[in-house]
Amino acid sequence: MARRPVLEFTDRGIHCPAGGFHVDPWRPVDRAVITHGHADHARSGHARYLATAGSAPILRQRLGDIVLDTLRYGETRQIGDARVSFHPAGHVPGSAQIRVEVAGEVWVVSGDYKLQADGLSEPFEPVRCHAFVTESTFGLPVFRWPDPAQVAQELNGWWRDSIASGRTPVLGAYALGKAQRVLSMLDPGIGPILTHGAIETSTEVLRRQGCRLPQTFAVMPDAQPRPDPGALVIAPPAALGSAWMRRFGPVSTGFASGWMMLRGIRRRRAMDRGFVLSDHADWPGLNLAIGETGAEKIFVTHGYTDIFAQWLRSRGIDADVVTTEYAGDEAQQE
Ligand SMILES: [Zn+2]
Ligand SMILES: [Zn+2]
Repeated sequence: MARRPVLEFTDRGIHCPAGGFHVDPWRPVDRAVITHGHADHARSGHARYLATAGSAPILRQRLGDIVLDTLRYGETRQIGDARVSFHPAGHVPGSAQIRVEVAGEVWVVSGDYKLQADGLSEPFEPVRCHAFVTESTFGLPVFRWPDPAQVAQELNGWWRDSIASGRTPVLGAYALGKAQRVLSMLDPGIGPILTHGAIETSTEVLRRQGCRLPQTFAVMPDAQPRPDPGALVIAPPAALGSAWMRRFGPVSTGFASGWMMLRGIRRRRAMDRGFVLSDHADWPGLNLAIGETGAEKIFVTHGYTDIFAQWLRSRGIDADVVTTEYAGDEAQQE
């Protein structure tokens, strides 16, 4: 009888038959091993969770009273006949790639990842493996991230220019990861930084686990007064253009995302400014990461799966597309 693969792609999620667990399952399972705290990877309803110690606070904050066990990066846990360990994915603080070893064969699930250092997340670590399950959110050659120092200059320049023209800059950024990354790039010397409640909550969780971030002031839902002069506001994408924004008077809107590389999307979102900043690997990053795994088999999930898998095959790499239900924290907006 042929041996079952280390991981199988099922309608509940990525399943390890030897260990009896699922990685980032999207339907309720007995035992879920979680790469990171974004909503499409960490869902509610599982009987037991295993995650990194670094993502535990955000999982508890988002999922409530779950049965959660944690491991440090590099620590190994035997689950059935599988050995499981977590390795930094560089995506958001606490995020991990999951290494699964069964009878000497190693598979790695990337979750979401980026190679660019962001000063907050534990830097991405390549893990040697036989098979690598990679995301491909930005798996097109057009996606190449600019130097973050340059993006920081653009952000602070926009803040100053907005004040000078009598507008309040309101920046859209995802509550977990992107918002804190933006925060770490802003110059608090320019003025106060105001946050939407959803952003303040994640920021506070990350602060408590040691992320050094500038001071922020939460904007309460029923607060009427106009903001301090010179303030910049950070809000989740859904709040941009909502009634919540009216309190700030004339605004200049900005958005920080990898998608801001595409002019059509910038226009469609009707933002005054787009800042190219992503927590996912760009095209060179994806290719570099895949090369460093040494894997002979690549499975491509969420993103430009077909195009990216085809590109890998054209380079002589055995690559297949697998269907998952990860919306992607950056992908879901389109
Ligand atoms: Zn994510
Ligand atoms: Zn994802």
